[in-house]
Amino acid sequence: MSLGLSAAVRTRACFFALLLAGAPGLAAWAQQQATPAAKPKIIVLATGGTIAGQASNRAAIGYDAGKVSGSDLVAAVPGLGELASVSAEQISSIGSQDMNDKVWFDLARRIGAIAANHEADGVVITHGTDTMEETAFFLQSVLHTDMPVVMAGSMRPSTAVSADGPANLYEAVEVAASPQARGRGVLVVLNDRIHGARGVEKGNTTSVQTFQSPNGGPVGYVDPSSVRFMMPAASAEPGQPLALPQAPPLPRVDIVYAHAGMDAALIEDAVKGGAKGLVLAGVGDGNGSQAAIDAMAKAAQSGVLVVRASRVGSGFVNRNVEVNDDKLGFVTALDLNPQKARVLAQLLIANGITDAARAQQAFVATW
Ligand code: ASP
Repeated sequence: MSLGLSAAVRTRACFFALLLAGAPGLAAWAQQQATPAAKPKIIVLATGGTIAGQASNRAAIGYDAGKVSGSDLVAAVPGLGELASVSAEQISSIGSQDMNDKVWFDLARRIGAIAANHEADGVVITHGTDTMEETAFFLQSVLHTDMPVVMAGSMRPSTAVSADGPANLYEAVEVAASPQARGRGVLVVLNDRIHGARGVEKGNTTSVQTFQSPNGGPVGYVDPSSVRFMMPAASAEPGQPLALPQAPPLPRVDIVYAHAGMDAALIEDAVKGGAKGLVLAGVGDGNGSQAAIDAMAKAAQSGVLVVRASRVGSGFVNRNVEVNDDKLGFVTALDLNPQKARVLAQLLIANGITDAARAQQAFVATW
C-alpha cells in the first residue's frame, strides 16, 4: 500500500534509515543513487532485407526488401530506448540475395573500427535471412574482437499484420547489450533463439522459425526479460580469425550441386571460367559420381582448392571415408555447409592458403 510519499521523500527516508543503522555499503548505495548506471550503447548497422521490407502494389503478398531505413526500424521498436542507447547507420539497402563482397568488407571494417575505438558495447546488424548465415560466418572469420556482434532479420516485412522484425530487433539489441554475449563470435538472433555463426542455417522458406543449428542446436535463448546461453563462452578467441584481404572482390569459388546421373560438365566449366576454388555440395557424406570425382581430382592437380561438402543439411564430411582425399588432394568441409565452405575457401585463397593440408587445418580451427 502506498503511503502517499513522493519518490524524493521516500529515497531520503531510506537514506537516513540506513545512516541510523550504520549499514555497510552505504557510501556505495549513495553513489549509485547519484549516478544511475549508464545504458549500454549499441550501434545498429542496417543492410536491408525483409526486416526493412515494405508491401508494394505488385501483389497482395508481394513486398520489396530493404526499403525502410535502419533509423526508422529502430524508432519503430517499443521500449528499445529503455534497453540501450541505440543509434543506426545505413550500410546498404538490399535484399540479402544481392549480398556481396563490398558490403561484407564495409561491415567488417566498420565493426573493426567500432571495437578498436570503443564506440559501442555491441553491434547489431539487420540483414535479410536468405544469406545471413554466410555474412555471419564471413564476419566471424575475419573479426578480431570479443565485442558482441549480433545479426537480426525477419521473415515478414515491416508492413505485415504480424511483422516479426520489431521483436527480433528488440531481442538482438538485448543480446548485444548483454555482457554474457562477449567472446562468442558472431551471433544470429531470430524468434527467441540465439545461434552461432558456424552452426546456423536457414531451414524453412517461409516460417518465422526458420533458423536452425542442426548439429549443435541454438547456443542460447532470449525473451524480453532474459538472455540465456547454454554454455560458458569459450576462453579462446572465436576460431583463428583470418586477415581481412586488402579489398574486394574475394577470389572466385564456385559451388557445384551433386545429383544422380552427374557428369563432369559443371565442374569443368567452373575451372574453365576461372574458379580458384570449387565446393562440391555432394550427395551423402560429400560424395559425387565417378565422373565428378575424376574432374575434381584434375582440378585439384591444376591448383584449384577443392572442398567436399554435403547437400544433406546436417552431419560431418570426414576425410578418407568413401573418397581418398589424401590421394586426390581434397579438403573436407566437416560440418560447414557448402555456402559457408565457399566463404572459408575464398578467405583462405585470398590469404595465400591453397595447399590442401593447410586449408584442412583452417576448416578444423574456425568455429
Ligand atoms: N529475400 C529476403 C532477404 O534475404 C528474405 C528475408 O530477409 O527473409 O533479404
